[in-house]
Amino acid sequence: MRLLLVEDDRRIARDVIALLEAQGHLVDHATDGEDAWFKGDVEDYAAVVLDLGLPGMDGLAVLKRWRENGRTMPVLVLSARGTWKERVEGIDAGADDYLPKPFEPEELAARLRALIRRSAGQGRPVLEIGDVALDPRAMRVSVKGVPRALSPQEFRLLDYLMLQAGRVVPPSELLEQLYGDEDSRETNTIEVLVGRLRKKLGVELISTRRGFGYTIERDDPAP
Ligand code: CA
Repeated sequence: MRLLLVEDDRRIARDVIALLEAQGHLVDHATDGEDAWFKGDVEDYAAVVLDLGLPGMDGLAVLKRWRENGRTMPVLVLSARGTWKERVEGIDAGADDYLPKPFEPEELAARLRALIRRSAGQGRPVLEIGDVALDPRAMRVSVKGVPRALSPQEFRLLDYLMLQAGRVVPPSELLEQLYGDEDSRETNTIEVLVGRLRKKLGVELISTRRGFGYTIERDDPAP
């Protein structure tokens, strides 16, 4: 998943980024309010971790502006001054979760997983569609119970498509989720990746909608 971390404390940022990247995420980092606001306003993130005490615009103001602009990505707020008043303010401003400092990066990662799941309308820790099961915590994929070895990019692609099941996802969106901004923008990259993933899975799961993108059908019809 592509995530945004807004944190001006370099040591905390380093630890959190290392853990999230080790778990297969792509992490953008902002260290001040203006940059955070801009990134969150123009990019699509699966979730955002937002520190409240920031140079320039503070975190609460950033969050309010995102929400006023109709940005709905899940936001987990971090704060050193974890008083109940601040929690209430944060939640009123549109935060989806709140973690007081100091915290364990592992707890942050677990809360992010829950947030991403909830925002995608998935209540279960392991995603299962047809014969394919994907465990985001263990970064494991199995088909009919047999594990499949995927590269980090293949895993991220499958994770994203499974979370978005029922929707046709354009290759440009997949590129952005998988590679961020700086990397290759050739849609061919996604075609090649999907091809490899299909071969490794060995089952019909990902369909191509020519001219539109890729989709995985939901197998439990939404209520
Ligand atoms: Ca801070």
